[in-house]
Amino acid sequence: MYPNTLLYIDGHWCPAASGRTLPVVNPANHQQIGTVAYAEKADLDRALEAADKGFKAWRKVSAFDRCKIMRKAADLFRERVETVATCMTFEQGKPIVEARMETMAGADIIDWFAEEGRRAYGRVIPARTEGVYQLVVKEPVGPVAAFTPWNFPINQAVRKLSAALATGCSVILKAPEETPASPAELVRCFADAGVPAGVINLIYGSPAEISGYLIPHPVIRKITFTGSTPVGKQLAAMAGAHMKRVTMELGGHAPVIVFDDADVDAAAKAMAFAKFRNAGQVCVSPTRFLVQEGVYNRFVEQFVTHTKTLKVGDGFDPDTRMATLANPRRQAAMVANVEDAKKHGGTLRTGGYPIGEKGNFFEPTVVTELSNTAMAMNTEPFGPLAIINPFKTFDDAVQEANRLPYGLAAYAWTKSAKTANAIGAQIETGMVTINHLGFALPEVPFGGVKDSGYGSEGGADATEPYLVAKFVTQAGL
Ligand code: NAD
Repeated sequence: MYPNTLLYIDGHWCPAASGRTLPVVNPANHQQIGTVAYAEKADLDRALEAADKGFKAWRKVSAFDRCKIMRKAADLFRERVETVATCMTFEQGKPIVEARMETMAGADIIDWFAEEGRRAYGRVIPARTEGVYQLVVKEPVGPVAAFTPWNFPINQAVRKLSAALATGCSVILKAPEETPASPAELVRCFADAGVPAGVINLIYGSPAEISGYLIPHPVIRKITFTGSTPVGKQLAAMAGAHMKRVTMELGGHAPVIVFDDADVDAAAKAMAFAKFRNAGQVCVSPTRFLVQEGVYNRFVEQFVTHTKTLKVGDGFDPDTRMATLANPRRQAAMVANVEDAKKHGGTLRTGGYPIGEKGNFFEPTVVTELSNTAMAMNTEPFGPLAIINPFKTFDDAVQEANRLPYGLAAYAWTKSAKTANAIGAQIETGMVTINHLGFALPEVPFGGVKDSGYGSEGGADATEPYLVAKFVTQAGL
């Protein structure tokens, strides 16, 4: 049912040269379900050599033909949805419905980037002299080192792989050791669709050792990372020291602003769904709920009611609406956040405790009236914790929303076009969704500002970081 995961280097699935592996554990019951190969220096050197060779070949394949191969990979990925989703629920824990949705969305992302690659237009600049042609040509940046986390094993990897492949780059993907099999199935689809050897290389091992070796290596021309802000800052600093381009998709602490004139019923229902999706282990997860005084009590009551109806259970149970956390670190972090919230005057409205002896289950939790000094009001909880506080004026809400160094996502609910416009303009995040849940489609930008990172992983902007603009000026003889 669950495979052991190998490395994929230069077109071959292979164990690590040392034979070393890591165990893979089902987070719902802590049982070992398989192993993943653990790459060390000899494997990294092979991957680098392959990526160098793969880049030289792939950049010569026309954008038209790259698109055909990628779209075939997307079709294979859709056909294999049950295999991929089953692997993901075993290793990550999330409800199988969410795993299927992530897989199907991943196929759409491949299709989107495949088409965008065909539109990597350059331009012609009018010259001052007759017979001179001034051309701006878009070229692939080169081999990419991509680092992806365990919360969305497909979504985070497929955005990076697709942008790189569409633009003619090769990739070394260090996928998550905790959730290795589903991204390996993604790579298998690309390989089976005809992506040549060396263009995609897949490795696992010690994240710090791998990034420390790949980022400075001269073969690698671009770094892309999704994960926590502290790690992102370390990797960006290393990349800067070696003058490598970076895309950083880091942590968030999304405010949700509900105004007095909002559709409170719709807001409470949609936001409870968004909060507890993937057990809150989502970079754009709504976290700091700021609700205007006039509708505060009603919103809290409705949000808590929705939260209490969520059935928590095994990801394979079709009735489960929220499953286990992906690793024991997250469960421990939730316990610490709730203890700290109680000390800082927060009122626990529902939840607050681990569930059962096996697995990393934690109750969907709502805390209200929590002081700004509490840990959860300042660092990303990255788990099933919603914090709801009242506010008086528009300016109070904006001040609190912009208080933290994070700047990834924000949500707002209002029936006033004037308030909606003002919120859209004044919130310091890379993404704002107003009166609906509108993030993360392939065709729209995805990325943050401030400590939440740099660069976009969606929409037309997402191929640019994988391209360099070369200026060629040419005179007739
Ligand atoms: P972590 O900071 O140890 O790791 C986060 C990710 O970065 C993991 O995938 C890990 O393998 C990778 N990583 C860690 N050190 C690395 C290094 N030196 N080089 C390359 N990769 C490295 O934290 P964690 O306990 O795994 O996750 C918890 C925190 O990470 C959360 O609180 C959240 O802030 C953040 N996170 C964010 C996202 C996101 O989608 N932006 C995803 C997962 C985790």
